[in-house]
Amino acid sequence: MQTENLIVGLGIAGLNLCHQLEKAGKSFIVIDSCPTNSASLIAGGIYNPVVFKRKLKSWNADDLIPALVEAYSEIDARLNITSLHHQFPILKPITSVDDLGQWQRVIQEERLSPYVESIEMGSPEGPFKEGIIANTTVQNGGFLRIGKTLLAYREYLKTKGLLVREEFDYAALKITDSGEEYGDVKADRVIFSEGRFISENPYFSWVPFKPTKGQILTVKTDGSLTPDRIYNHQFLLFPTEQNDVFKLGATYEWDKLDEIPTSASTKELLSKAEKVLNVKFEVLEEKAAIRPMRLWDRRPVICVHPDHKSLFLFNRNGYERRDDSALFRKSNWSISSTVIGNLTRR
Ligand SMILES: Cc1cc2nc3c(=O)[nH]c(=O)nc-3n(C[C@H](O)[C@H](O)[C@H](O)COP(=O)(O)OP(=O)(O)OC[C@H]3O[C@@H](n4cnc5c(N)ncnc54)[C@H](O)[C@@H]3O)c2cc1C
Repeated sequence: MQTENLIVGLGIAGLNLCHQLEKAGKSFIVIDSCPTNSASLIAGGIYNPVVFKRKLKSWNADDLIPALVEAYSEIDARLNITSLHHQFPILKPITSVDDLGQWQRVIQEERLSPYVESIEMGSPEGPFKEGIIANTTVQNGGFLRIGKTLLAYREYLKTKGLLVREEFDYAALKITDSGEEYGDVKADRVIFSEGRFISENPYFSWVPFKPTKGQILTVKTDGSLTPDRIYNHQFLLFPTEQNDVFKLGATYEWDKLDEIPTSASTKELLSKAEKVLNVKFEVLEEKAAIRPMRLWDRRPVICVHPDHKSLFLFNRNGYERRDDSALFRKSNWSISSTVIGNLTRR
């Protein structure tokens, strides 16, 4: 079997890559172990053009939000599903005078325009506890029902005969001058989109990721929350497709990296939500997975292998800029969102 691109890993990164390749008329085959749990399968899928902690626009938000909306609208149409919920307001309660002053300053200086334009004094409508002195709402954000998209996309690729369900065997990859051979597949290039498993990849394990465990809950509420917004206050709470059922996430843990939900994380999430909301929550489901990310930003990692020019890394997650290992310096990689364009044009 001959293909231009052999992609290893079908999380949200691999899926986007497939979509762009298909649009560009490029051939590809995907190998994925099709797990029942992964970062992409359980993620909240929320995209926020504002970094609340620093009150800055998210990296390249002005370019990336329209690109994201275009891509996921196309994917929804292709799969005949509704997964993208764009223009879904993100509500941010403000609880301290200091914080209020900072918000007022950035809004006055139009630093977050057009995403945050004003502040409303007092508590927002809804079951909020006392102590909220003001609130603001981010526009142009939203969420993707990412697990739904991924499962539907797996089926889409299966019916096209483009998905091989197996664990990729690195030892079976033959790198030749004219391309790559893997079993009966001959490919011009191999692109690894393996999420956290990239640290086990012999070609790219030197790229320094910081795996982080995250837990998310599915909760039934008492009916007092309106499902028309994302609630954000050291937690994210947003509606599912069932009445009064919401997702509540997510934790960040760096020590015990497994996919087992813990009661401590459940307690942490509930107590954060109950601190500001007068809502009774019943936990219906707990899920945990590992996201590879870097600590001080969450940018994608895209690079070509320094010694094998037909091996690529394409991950949703971040890299460690301060790493100075020889391979890292030699890799001449880029994190630009235009790299995906370059890949699809090759
Ligand atoms: C609880 C939680 C909540 C989150 N919420 C958000 C959010 O609201 N917004 C946001 O932007 N991000 C969120 N994230 C982060 C987000 O989930 C990840 O950044 C993203 O899903 C990573 O996607 P990926 O495709 O790089 O990796 P993954 O989702 O890990 O996918 C990698 C795929 O490759 C396969 N694979 C790997 N190696 C091999 C191999 N050798 N052979 C075969 N298959 C292989 C894996 O089985 C998997 O299917 C959240 C994460 C968690 C855990």
